[in-house]
Amino acid sequence: MFHLGLDIGGTKMEAVLLDDAGTVVLRERRPTCKAHYQGFLDNLMEMITGIRTATQYDFTVGIGLPGAIDPQSGLIKNCNCLVLNGENLKRDLTVLLNQPVFLANDADCFTLSEAVDGAGKGYGTVFGVIVGTGCGGGVVVKGQLLSGPNAIAGEWGHNPLPGWHTEQDGSVERCYCQHENCIESFISGTGFSRRFNARHGTQYTPEMIIAAANEGDPRAVTHYHHFIDAFARSLAGVINTIDPHVIVLGGGLSNVESLYRDLPPVVEKYIFSPTCRTQIAKAQFGDASGVRGAAWLPVRVTGD
Ligand SMILES: [Zn+2]
Repeated sequence: MFHLGLDIGGTKMEAVLLDDAGTVVLRERRPTCKAHYQGFLDNLMEMITGIRTATQYDFTVGIGLPGAIDPQSGLIKNCNCLVLNGENLKRDLTVLLNQPVFLANDADCFTLSEAVDGAGKGYGTVFGVIVGTGCGGGVVVKGQLLSGPNAIAGEWGHNPLPGWHTEQDGSVERCYCQHENCIESFISGTGFSRRFNARHGTQYTPEMIIAAANEGDPRAVTHYHHFIDAFARSLAGVINTIDPHVIVLGGGLSNVESLYRDLPPVVEKYIFSPTCRTQIAKAQFGDASGVRGAAWLPVRVTGD
């Protein structure tokens, strides 16, 4: 059997066809149609039927997208591919393809991918974290993606930063979700650089701040250490709640190699245990994890 995964982004759609062993049989990319939903649907159908014609294979279909799917109505919400909001892509595509279609949030797909055959392979409970533009997350337990009535399992980025106070964390951060001091405002790549630049009047990217810290710039060193501390406090909350065997990091900031050295001792300081056996690992498939996880959805998700 073959498994088609589609990763829908705000600007591009990526497709990957995997065999049962996870080997990539075919990969394809094309721009996302952002004009209207019907155009998006036509374009997506053209991509899927094109792959079927080219390979002559039967395959399952899974889709990852940067938004949430309401478990009751099936409608998409909070998606940065705006034409999808309020639409029932799962139903529409199921009718057009005449076969089941599985949809999930992209951070969930990332976590599933890493749990199935990436850095989380062989671990019982995997918590996946994306520290990039935002701060997403997902939970896979014994190979199954966790989902719930609110479709927000793993959305730790919108918990308040544990132990926040002005002296150590700066002024109040307001999040687009309407809450204050969300973890995402502090440890996403966007929040990491925005807070540094606001404080120092610079226009540094996250990579530039890390490079400056490595060169000994005291402003960047202080900012990096605060980031590690805030990240560790946030992860400690996750570990105290679900006690994962491994936490897999993806997204732009996951490429900062020093994280894997600097985070564990600080996490250990904050958790409700004298030692921390939870591993913190870098994603094996990097940016490709989202589309691989989408491909695994039909195999690894057992409905509600
Ligand atoms: Zn928020």
